[in-house]
Amino acid sequence: MIPYGKQEVTEDDVTAVARVLVSDLIAQGPQVEAFERAVAARVGARHGVAMNSATSALHVACLALGVGPGDIVWTSPITFVASANAALYCGAQVDFVDIDPKRWTMSVAALEAKLEAASQTGTLPKVVIPVHFMGEPCDMASIGALSQRYGFRVIEDAAHAIGGRYGNKPIGAGDHADITVFSFHPVKVITTGEGGMAMTNDDTLAHRLRSLRSHGITREGSEMEGECHGLWYYQQLSLGFNYRMTDIQGALGLSQLARLDEYVARRHALADRYDAALSRLPLDLPYRDPKHYSGVHLYVVRLKRHSRREVYDALRARGIGLNVHYIPVHTQPYYRKLGFKAGDFPASEAYYQEALTLPLYPTLSEAEQDQVIAAFHKVLS
Ligand SMILES: *Cc1c(COP(=O)(O)O)cnc(C)c1O
Repeated sequence: MIPYGKQEVTEDDVTAVARVLVSDLIAQGPQVEAFERAVAARVGARHGVAMNSATSALHVACLALGVGPGDIVWTSPITFVASANAALYCGAQVDFVDIDPKRWTMSVAALEAKLEAASQTGTLPKVVIPVHFMGEPCDMASIGALSQRYGFRVIEDAAHAIGGRYGNKPIGAGDHADITVFSFHPVKVITTGEGGMAMTNDDTLAHRLRSLRSHGITREGSEMEGECHGLWYYQQLSLGFNYRMTDIQGALGLSQLARLDEYVARRHALADRYDAALSRLPLDLPYRDPKHYSGVHLYVVRLKRHSRREVYDALRARGIGLNVHYIPVHTQPYYRKLGFKAGDFPASEAYYQEALTLPLYPTLSEAEQDQVIAAFHKVLS
């Protein structure tokens, strides 16, 4: 079976991890710090705060921006559930903004209309979480301008988008967002096994993120209430979590990061091959804005004349491992219990009926890709 995605782990990665495993420090330590500095330098952010997952990073990003009970957070229905769950963990309410029918990311027109309506009823969001779905950047300049006009903060869910660019700036540079979150799950662009990182240019936010990932504890005398009792002493100042990344993972991340540009270039080359080979089939192909550079984490097509279920089953029977990204979050049973229903976000629901994710990963060979293409032609003809 050709999978829809998979990681590459090289000899260099294994050596880097093995070196840490036999060292004195295997939990969060110097490797994690070096990985944070390297990602921050790569994307042009002041701070990187590594965590055990992007989900954890999204959670503490919301907390760092002050999200709590009574607040509202908006995201896209076409995302992994974690983008929305992060706000619920904080006791806030979640709502969604429908997608653009061509780009499949958050529609700026829908966002603007919803903001205008919310400003009339006093229900404006505290935070909006645009998702760079497939790695394709959202219209961040417009979202940034709306955040100024309506007074909300922005967390970019860039789980798919490390290595991409918005205009000529790397995603994560934070020109139009307060915090950007990357994921290092094995299906993503680079991996640490599990892991994530929150990027920010704001010193205060970075400090809150670091504190929240480790129990809200400080060892800095200057931050303590009253006197410091000695070198062993620490104080818990807020209710944080254990969201730390291990040095074993940090070493893997550092080693993988060296191949980031190569990986994204390879993903682009494979996506270009799909574009050319599938262009005459009854499909909508994924849009890539020439002004930006996608991370191309996923290659999604929309079936225009066939049943998605039938095509999915027929291709799987031919050894092609497909996937579907994503089931609209608001249609999940848990979210229905919160009051959402089918019909709430029609562009997202129409998208879901037709969407199919094709195999795409750096070690996918052209011969394997040709197998996928041939099977598609056969099944759709
Ligand atoms: C994978 C993913 C996440 C969660 O990442 P983890 O590192 O697995 O917690 C969040 N948002 C999106 C869009 C994702 O694809």
